[in-house]
Parts: sequence; C-alpha cells; structure tokens
Amino acid sequence: MAIYPFIFIKNKKLAGNSILINHERIHLRQQIELLWIFFFTWYIIEFLIHLIRLRNWNKAYHNISFEKEAYHNEDNLYYLEDRKFWAFLKYFN
Ligand SMILES: [Zn+2]
Repeated sequence: MAIYPFIFIKNKKLAGNSILINHERIHLRQQIELLWIFFFTWYIIEFLIHLIRLRNWNKAYHNISFEKEAYHNEDNLYYLEDRKFWAFLKYFN
C-alpha cells in the first residue's frame, strides 16, 4: 500500500519484489499528480461507484482507474520514466 511519501509492505519477503514496488511507485506518482487528497477522494468515489455497479469488492477494486494503470504497467520497471501526466485517465471508464 502506498501513501505518499511511504510504501507499506505487509510482508518482509515482498520488499524485494520489484513488480510490487513498481505498482506502489505508480500509485505514489498518481498521488503527487492529484495533490494527495484528490487521489484518495477520487479513489474512494470510484471504488464505491464500481461497488454499486458490480456488487463485488474485488472486482470494484480492480476497476478503479488508478489500479488498472498500476496493474497494467507494474511489470514494466521503466514505466514511470516516460509515463505521461495523469496517465490514469486512459484507464478511466
Ligand atoms: Zn494498487
């Protein structure tokens, strides 16, 4: 879990997982771009909309645009180097 400027890892073994770290770093970038507070506001609102629509916690979480961007690009360790500003909008629907 990422809350700028920190990344919280629940299991020590996962700390060496570069894909997981990259996923969380993508969230840190999203948070900076939305001045932190707007990220969490948007995140929660989008989650609730998906939850009402899909009636499934896990599916709702995976449909949040921030998560879609992070999951889609987490295995590209160079993603953040040429990621465009507000790139999560591409995943918003
Ligand atoms: Zn995530």
